[in-house]
Amino acid sequence: MATRPAAALLAIGDELVLGEKLDTNSQWLADRLGLAGLRVLEHRTVPDDREVIASAMVRLLGDAHVLIVGGGLGPTADDLTREGLSDALATLTGEVHPLIEDDSALRDIQAFFEKIGRSMNDANRTQAMRPRGAAAIPNDHGTAPGLLARFEIDGSPRLIACLPGPPREMRPMFERDISPILEGLPGVQAADLRVSQVFGLGESELATRIADLMHRENNPAVGTTASSGMVTCRVRVEPTRPVAGPYESREPQAAVEEALAKIDSVADGYVVSRRQETLAGTLLREAEAAGLSLATAESCTGGLIGQLITAEAGSSAAYAGGWVTYSNGMKSRELGVSEADLLSHGAVSGQVAMAMASGARQRSGADIALSVTGIAGPGGGTSEKPVGTVWIGVASPGSPVSARGFRFMGDRSSIRLWSANTALFIGLLAVRSRLEVGLLREMFSVSE
Ligand code: ATP
Ligand code: MG
Repeated sequence: MATRPAAALLAIGDELVLGEKLDTNSQWLADRLGLAGLRVLEHRTVPDDREVIASAMVRLLGDAHVLIVGGGLGPTADDLTREGLSDALATLTGEVHPLIEDDSALRDIQAFFEKIGRSMNDANRTQAMRPRGAAAIPNDHGTAPGLLARFEIDGSPRLIACLPGPPREMRPMFERDISPILEGLPGVQAADLRVSQVFGLGESELATRIADLMHRENNPAVGTTASSGMVTCRVRVEPTRPVAGPYESREPQAAVEEALAKIDSVADGYVVSRRQETLAGTLLREAEAAGLSLATAESCTGGLIGQLITAEAGSSAAYAGGWVTYSNGMKSRELGVSEADLLSHGAVSGQVAMAMASGARQRSGADIALSVTGIAGPGGGTSEKPVGTVWIGVASPGSPVSARGFRFMGDRSSIRLWSANTALFIGLLAVRSRLEVGLLREMFSVSE
């Protein structure tokens, strides 16, 4: 069996090197390459400099069989990927690869400008240039064609694909034209990836509970990543390698199912979803299926929960709406929180969180209302209620209104995001009729 081909990524652009723009393409591509079954060795980011681009290409192809390059294919003088590729191919193959005009690419660019009703200028014409021996890849979403070069180094096949920088052009080009080529390379076997998303248990706590599944040599191997409270467990099996680890005697698919079942059992009520979806997405899907509607009453999150919910297409099927009640006055007037509760317990308290949730449920007519009140910082903390103290309330049909206090760590934006996510998760527990005292009490109570 051939060994798995290795890949490297090269991002091109002054704006990326200078930090004016975040290189999201490499993250997306690395994930895709891993799923396609390649080993990703390295990412590099270089400025719009012809020599630097060419030498980076040559160096990266010393180890990698596949190099995916992004950016620098535009029409302006600082777009030098074509030139860099031409120079790199000369060094790598020992033969010149001068830039020539590609007739079909030129026709595509002309057609693109006709379609948008503008005339093509000479700068755009340079985008039809490709090194001799490389192919132009049509771009359905912009003017810059991609470039593909395949050659051998000492009998070993190599591939360079140069893709446009804008993600909305790069992604479809990768999916349509590059992915199928990579899947056909010798030794490539797409890894089968399943996920289980867990909320409410710390990543290290969960990892301890499934430590035997997480050894790197295992097949399937389980890895975890955490983001603002959500822990994603990825179960990855390589079908051509024998099963190794705790489920050694099983078939690969059976071993995957057992690994997922083990995660379910150790995470019990904290499992959100086996789909790659957001917390809000799961909440909406399950609320709609159960015929339940949702409302929100937010203080320190300032509408973030509503934003996360409405970012999901079709959210109106389950989301009635919400309030942002920042001041005490608004909490009283809009949600009916009593002056007495505000005075005796303070705005950041379980009593006020419960009153906000009850008021929101009653006044919206929704089945389930979630509320958040807390201190996001950096100011406003006291020794009794330090920054990060957040109360989340929930009012739902099955159980009495309740609230739970949390202490979130981090800066203002992470405290707000943890708060919003935790509220969404508590909403999910309400939809599932699992607002058990035990589950809520144990949430995040394990110190990281
Ligand atoms: P264009 O024809 O638009 O000029 P291009 O192939 O020349 O495309 P660039 O000029 O390098 O690409 O970048 C175009 C846009 O895509 C810029 O807004 C740039 O910031 C963005 N972009 C480039 N590379 C990346 C990347 N790695 N991640 C995210 N955005 C990127
Ligand atoms: Mg450009």
